Amino acid sequence: NVRVRFAPSPTGPLHIGGVRTALFNYLFAKKHNGTFILRIEDTDQNRYVEGAEQYIIDALNWCEMPFDEGPGTNEKFGPYRQSERKPLYKAYAEELINSGNAYYAFDTAEALDAHRKDHEAKGKTFIYNWHNRLKLSNSLSLSAEEVNAKLDAGEDYVIRFKSPQDETLHLTDIIRGDIKIDTNILDDKVLFKSDGMPTYHLANIVDDHLMEISHVIRGEEWLPSLALHFQLYQAFGWDAPEFAHLPLILKPTGKGKLSKRDGDKLGFPVFPLQWTDPKTNDISRGYKEDGYFADAMVNFLAFLGWNPGTEQEIFTLEELVAAFDLKKVNKSGARFDPDKIKWFNHHYMQEQNNYELAEAFKNYNSELEETDINYIEMVVALIKERATFVSDFWDLSHFFFVAPTAYDEKASKKALKEGTDTIMNQLIAILNANTDFTVETLTTEIKGWITSNDIGFGKVMMPLRLALVGALQGPDVFDIMYMIGKAETVKRIERIIQ
Ligand code: GLU
Repeated sequence: NVRVRFAPSPTGPLHIGGVRTALFNYLFAKKHNGTFILRIEDTDQNRYVEGAEQYIIDALNWCEMPFDEGPGTNEKFGPYRQSERKPLYKAYAEELINSGNAYYAFDTAEALDAHRKDHEAKGKTFIYNWHNRLKLSNSLSLSAEEVNAKLDAGEDYVIRFKSPQDETLHLTDIIRGDIKIDTNILDDKVLFKSDGMPTYHLANIVDDHLMEISHVIRGEEWLPSLALHFQLYQAFGWDAPEFAHLPLILKPTGKGKLSKRDGDKLGFPVFPLQWTDPKTNDISRGYKEDGYFADAMVNFLAFLGWNPGTEQEIFTLEELVAAFDLKKVNKSGARFDPDKIKWFNHHYMQEQNNYELAEAFKNYNSELEETDINYIEMVVALIKERATFVSDFWDLSHFFFVAPTAYDEKASKKALKEGTDTIMNQLIAILNANTDFTVETLTTEIKGWITSNDIGFGKVMMPLRLALVGALQGPDVFDIMYMIGKAETVKRIERIIQ
């Protein structure tokens, strides 16, 4: 029974790496007919950011990866916000104290700082563990009376995990295989604080257990926590889930981890949706608002660390579900290539519904306010193969809506020659004689006239295109003439030979 969770902390907008983690969890769950759970890890009240949870949910919905269980769903494993589960963690911390796996520590921040400095002066690093825990202030170094007196007096404390000395831990990760860890290098991590809040580590393990999580799929940055998590499962006597740590996402240069700040620096979004910081009102760009399609982003993200082992690159979400395999996820970092997501967007542009694109186009360009939507839809069909974004549409199609007001200089030189006037006048005569003005009859008549009179295609097509478009680019001239109609076509040609 596969149950996986995406467990973000609502400390700001979900970055693109978080969306990749959510996606891999989603794909794995769906592949195995399992359950995809959203758990909000908001135990650190200092880092809580207003609106971040809603942002996470909006981002999942935009990607069409809805959660099966999470905030607002009424399942037996809830609540799904750790802040709402607060009362249950303390008993687990105490259970570990009673079993000898954890202890109270009373060291003040100043005392710990002094120890740190002391070690540094000797060229050593201070680790709170077997090596020096007896020299510090905790229930292993103090008598039971002293400990009780401190607790009764309401002194601040933390509960620390007692990491064993001289043991070798054998950990396994689906992506990384077997990992051996010497416990002597581990520190006694804080599990619980006297403000009544568990730390990430305790809450995460307790909830994964209570929510019957079968597989933990998360970013590589959590790999260093695996040893502790593994020991916590042992200490509680619980079966541990299986773990898979996804590779880092690297900057476009391939050097270093892609960070939240890279977006502004490098000129591409690192967030799925636009985000307005509630404190500063600063706006961070989002893929959605920048004109990317959700399926393009999902397809792109799927390839950050995974590939199907075939040449196929285009995958719908359903196809990804079918092809996904955690064992095919790489260990090494995945380079983030902002050009590649554009390539995907161009592909998915072709798959979009033309009517919906027309609506988006109309909303984006106020010039089209009065234009008939069905006409816009036909234009979209003709130009979208050249577009990556809806914001490209106007440049690719303005001549369907307004006559050119200027002619490209180079193009004019190339297209307008001696004799162009005569040829264009003949063309106007043909157009005027054409009664139905369909693409088919226009094509046959004009091409027929060119060949039978041996005029040369360039001599007709270049000035014609220049007249219609203002440049020597754009879709088929027969399509353009049909779309703008006879009167407008003739008017534009007359204008160029004036
Ligand atoms: N709350 C952690 C995060 O923000 C969850 C890590 C995990 O999945 O265990 O990524």
